Amino acid sequence: MKEIANREPANRESHRRSPPFSPGSGALRYNSLVRVLVVEDEPALREHLVAALGGAGYAVDAAADGERADFLGQTEEYDAVILDLGLPKVDGLTLVRRWRDAGLAVPILVLTARGAWHEKVQGIDSGADDYVGKPFRMEEVLARLRALIRRATGQLGGELRCGELVLDPRSARVTRNGVPVKLTSHEYRVLAYLMHHRGRVVSQTELSEHIYAQDLDRDSNTVEVFIARLRRKVGAATIETVRGLGYRMEGGA
Ligand code: CA
Repeated sequence: MKEIANREPANRESHRRSPPFSPGSGALRYNSLVRVLVVEDEPALREHLVAALGGAGYAVDAAADGERADFLGQTEEYDAVILDLGLPKVDGLTLVRRWRDAGLAVPILVLTARGAWHEKVQGIDSGADDYVGKPFRMEEVLARLRALIRRATGQLGGELRCGELVLDPRSARVTRNGVPVKLTSHEYRVLAYLMHHRGRVVSQTELSEHIYAQDLDRDSNTVEVFIARLRRKVGAATIETVRGLGYRMEGGA
């Protein structure tokens, strides 16, 4: 019973299955390129957050203690972290300080105990970007997360560049040397994901998880098909195959 004491009534909207992707429509296009880490030791609350974020189209990883969170935060690339402060092994404030000291700029939304104003002050002072007090409404967490990610990506200018390719996530348009490239929704997703993570190797499994984020029938083999089609449209050399590991696009200007 204690486990669900903090849990707010489920928000139907946030649990609703997202509509299928299509370029130029809706928030899923944007969310599906965003990877979020949820750090919460209370199982029911953690699952609630993971389900709501997944339902909103984010790719979500979860950690139940500070040690695991520290490992994931320092080895994986997240676009945002939702971090409970009271955690086993390593507490949330220590994590925020450690990550900031290590130069990690990932936006952090901390979850604080109700009425614990000192936690909010300490969280912000330590380098967190925003906070939500428990118990919270899921809508508020999602809205604050959207705002954090908007701010972070706004600083990057939005457009992704790689050699002669330019991808604008807001309009879902791709140009090569200034000429529009016509892509299907799946091709767009693959390209957008690779460009979003340019400079590092992305495995087939990771790609299939992201392009089929809301589907049940994932098939990593079809990734090869999309890559082959993409290469014909954007230039064979643009997407490098890293044997046995996956694909990579070079970091552009
Ligand atoms: Ca806790």
